[in-house]
Amino acid sequence: MNIAHCLQRAAQRCGPLTAIGYGTEVWCNYSQFAAMAARGATWLRQQGVQPGERVALFMHNRPDYLPLLWAVWWAGAVAVPINAKLHPKEAAWIAAHSGSRVIFADDEDGESLQSALREEAHDATVEARIEHVFDEALPEAAVAERAESDAAWLFYTSGTTGRPKGVELGARQLRWQSMGLFTAVQAVEPGEVALHPAPLSHGSGMLHLPYVMYGGVNVVPQSHGFDAEECLALAAHWRRASFFAAPTMVKRLVQAVKSAGQRPRGLATICYGGGPMYLADLEEALDVIGPHFAQIYGQGECPMMITALPRQMINHLYEARPEGWREHLASVGVAQAMVEVSVRDSRGRPLAVGEMGEVCVRGDVLMNGYWRQPKATAAAIVDGWLNTGDVGRLDAFGFLTLLDRSKDLIISGGTNIYPREVEEALLTHEDVAEAAVIGRPDAEWGEQVVAYVVVRRDVTETSLDAHCLGCIARFKRPKHYRFVAELPKNNYGKVLKTTLREWDSRITTCIT
Ligand code: AMP
Repeated sequence: MNIAHCLQRAAQRCGPLTAIGYGTEVWCNYSQFAAMAARGATWLRQQGVQPGERVALFMHNRPDYLPLLWAVWWAGAVAVPINAKLHPKEAAWIAAHSGSRVIFADDEDGESLQSALREEAHDATVEARIEHVFDEALPEAAVAERAESDAAWLFYTSGTTGRPKGVELGARQLRWQSMGLFTAVQAVEPGEVALHPAPLSHGSGMLHLPYVMYGGVNVVPQSHGFDAEECLALAAHWRRASFFAAPTMVKRLVQAVKSAGQRPRGLATICYGGGPMYLADLEEALDVIGPHFAQIYGQGECPMMITALPRQMINHLYEARPEGWREHLASVGVAQAMVEVSVRDSRGRPLAVGEMGEVCVRGDVLMNGYWRQPKATAAAIVDGWLNTGDVGRLDAFGFLTLLDRSKDLIISGGTNIYPREVEEALLTHEDVAEAAVIGRPDAEWGEQVVAYVVVRRDVTETSLDAHCLGCIARFKRPKHYRFVAELPKNNYGKVLKTTLREWDSRITTCIT
């Protein structure tokens, strides 16, 4: 089944109902939404896009993002939503790797993306004049035939090699994860609202799907991103509003509500995830904002669907305080209904309750595989079990506590940063001999990027910063530099990041 049928059905059932909001305004209803997707599909066909071909979206959240995404599916093509915060060079690499024929881009990125694509020697149409795509003179295409397991979404996540990997998801996974959100986070019916302060290329894009399936309203903030006051005002305006938020965003919301001096109105569920939420922060959020929180633990390879702490469970734990309530609130919850979760040792053997090991997950929602990377797929999914790279333990009640994640990944503000990518950027600076990047715990961001650098001759932090800005996304560049004579290494010459983290914690302890 083509996922686009979900929009077609919603238009049949809920045609005149609001489908997309922009700020406090109604942007379109379901009939208009489906008609735009159908005309957009015709436009894509005219560009030569055939079913199964890839179309990328390198755009910030905006109301026309959604009809574009659904136009790609309507045409039977595969959507490649790219994080809008990436550097155009990084976006061009993803477009080339996925073989995207068309790339929808924000106006301001069009030119730099074109030149980055030339460097990649990748020929694609970059389209920033989105109004042409929905031109009313275009005929409406029929929904293209697609199988349930055909690729629909390539979600580019980074890998240990430093290059992003394209997680291939079909209609099957998109529908399963929607059922998970529907049952574990928030039931949706017409009038129920999803706000999108978080990127539609990531968790918010997943969250919007059940709202289309069940005739809810998807609202894009006018800031096109996250602004705590705006988010709260939109919830009060639209009412029954839910949204996805990284833990950093939750902290900002708490500050905004404290400054406003009154509890927010119109909130249904704030679904947090994407990085660790500390217990003290959750307790404060529940006290200040109220009983509106649910948690999801997932990863691109098993989207939004490993474990969950549904809202009712969080509220029961916090109000009734049964035995173990603190540990359970600090956990990532229990396995979602459609998957099995197991904690295993390094040889793949299931561990007993309470033992720490790698979190593994099995179920129909697992990715088809990494796009054109069969070896990486075979390493990630063994005997049907996905190795998440996260370390955790299960307790006797089935609650999963994450203790660490695959050692080196840095999560800052809910966004993954892979040290290798930053190290590679630093190493292209002529004065840098060696570089190792780690995450430093940070109360606001979760972690901050710190670079340990061995230099060939004197170099300033400003020069390294400018260099990074030229080749990687702003949010990935180091916030702090430490210049050292040599990096700690093992006998094989491999840098010991654990030792570096120890050094770093000693230095920061001395400073604070
Ligand atoms: P991504 O594939 O970009 O969504 O990143 C997935 C990774 O983010 C997971 O493997 C975890 O390490 C981390 N993560 C996701 N959700 C949570 C959560 N609720 N609590 C802690 N870490 C999380």
